[in-house]
Amino acid sequence: MIVGVLAVQGDFKEHGAILARLGAKVREVRTVEDVSGIDRLIIPGGESTVMRKLLLDTGLLSVIADTDMPLFGTCAGAIVLARDIVHDDPILPCIDITIDRNAYGSQLQSFHHTLTIEGMGDVEGSFIRAPKIVRTGEAVRVLADLDGDPVLVKEGKVLVSTFHPETEGEEAVHQYFLDKCH
Ligand code: GLN
Repeated sequence: MIVGVLAVQGDFKEHGAILARLGAKVREVRTVEDVSGIDRLIIPGGESTVMRKLLLDTGLLSVIADTDMPLFGTCAGAIVLARDIVHDDPILPCIDITIDRNAYGSQLQSFHHTLTIEGMGDVEGSFIRAPKIVRTGEAVRVLADLDGDPVLVKEGKVLVSTFHPETEGEEAVHQYFLDKCH
């Protein structure tokens, strides 16, 4: 199995390191050609406005939209995959959620939190200019919340977290993506 990590911007190296520790084959995805042969794709944290532009400029947006592979987005990656973005057009709508960018405040309001996730135990999450999921569709399963706000959700083979497990060296969420998202 080859796991692609979108590597046009953001913290793709951290995702690659976790995947390598889990024994997965990793490919950094920068061009349309890089997509062929990957079995699943992670969209990392970073800046969703920049990712939107680079996904469009490289042609990756339509190529990824045409595939049916499992997707995992963290933070900015969650914004990329949301069906609705508050005050903006969707980017690559793949999961039935509405997301509000920077809803916890600026960089100064970034924080760490220990999340207890069913089947994963305690997972350290880093919320960096994190978005908030303000609506989940009926088919969306909430796997973890923080004070009632969903922070890890899944619909079919699409998983999104508003926090970063990868910056904390956490493996459980990536393992879940590899095992449970088909
Ligand atoms: N605030 C960023 C955005 O809107 C996301 C931040 C992150 O990925 N840590 O894209």
